[in-house]
Amino acid sequence: MIIILHPDTDKSDAGYRKLMEYLAGIPGITTRTHDVVGAEQTLTEVYLVGRTATLDMAQIQSFEVVERVVRVSREYRILGRHKDDVRPSHFDYNGVRFGQDNLNIFAGLCAVDTRDHVEQMMRALKERGLNCTRMGAYKPRTSPYSFQGHGRNCLPYVFELAGKYGIRVIAMEVTHEAHINEIDAVLQQTGNSTGVLLQIGTRNAQNFELLKSVGRQNTYPVLLKRGFGITLEESLNAAEYLASEGNRNVVFCLRGMKTQYGDPHRNMVDFSHVPTVKMLTRMPVCIDPSHSVGSRHAGPDRILDVFHATAQGVIAGANMILVDFHPDPARALVDGPQALRLEELDWFLEDVRIARAGYEQRQTLRDRVGNQQGI
Ligand code: PEP
Ligand code: MN
Repeated sequence: MIIILHPDTDKSDAGYRKLMEYLAGIPGITTRTHDVVGAEQTLTEVYLVGRTATLDMAQIQSFEVVERVVRVSREYRILGRHKDDVRPSHFDYNGVRFGQDNLNIFAGLCAVDTRDHVEQMMRALKERGLNCTRMGAYKPRTSPYSFQGHGRNCLPYVFELAGKYGIRVIAMEVTHEAHINEIDAVLQQTGNSTGVLLQIGTRNAQNFELLKSVGRQNTYPVLLKRGFGITLEESLNAAEYLASEGNRNVVFCLRGMKTQYGDPHRNMVDFSHVPTVKMLTRMPVCIDPSHSVGSRHAGPDRILDVFHATAQGVIAGANMILVDFHPDPARALVDGPQALRLEELDWFLEDVRIARAGYEQRQTLRDRVGNQQGI
């Protein structure tokens, strides 16, 4: 059960103390308090853990400081979408809105290789009015002998160029807590020229210590990739780890599942789960068509499979696209074979626009038919 208090409730207030004393007196129940600090107000939520089934909701509702009481219908207490739940389902970070109702495009390099490639990529984005990108510095690789990413060494020029080209948010994977400190330090040195969306990769979806350390900080929002060999429920619980440690600014990313049934795609595309995740939780949902499809193959219609997969996710209401581009894929150090070319960026963006317009038309149709049928 979640008790949402009136905005800006003062914890030294007698009304707040009265409520907390009442809750402390209920046997078998413990409480956990979360403050959601927004630009305009602070919302306090009290989570009740334990045997809540028999609690008297009306009684709790009658306390002066209580705005509303929400019965948690599912496992995901903080990020879950519960009955009568009106908590905000978006967040803003460095001027970019992340919500279940809009769409952000993060096109960029799977792995940073040269300064020149980073600059070409960012320039191309700026020219098209885009202000987000992906840039991999710390790369988790299957083989210990493969390029592991430039790590900290590339951060100064990546952040500096981001500032130069108006990039507001960079999705960047971290595989260890120490990477957050490195990002922090270099961002400060470059005068906070950009923002970072900390990415947790599919291989680390159940690295609970990493989840906890990323969840304990509130400076950066998090992009959590679905684990490629675990259930959706297990991956959503991984997201809940982040939130339960205090960071609820989480975007959930579908990136395909590892199974040979997906052949010849690198992974089995799972974008039919876009609406499912939006139904179960309040997280914005990202799709990664590059790591799902894993190639530049095209069918007889001569539209790349990566484009098709993207369109499938977007027409189903995806809120973010994480997609690999490269100015010179043949020379990319990681995942060149799946990278789209800069010359394809306009085509890609136009294709996404068509799919997004399709989603919006479907919403209009739902309203029209829904109104007629009283749904
Ligand atoms: C990536 O996005 O660079 C990546 C390694 O993805 P995943 O964790 O989905 O394999
Ligand atoms: Mn990759």
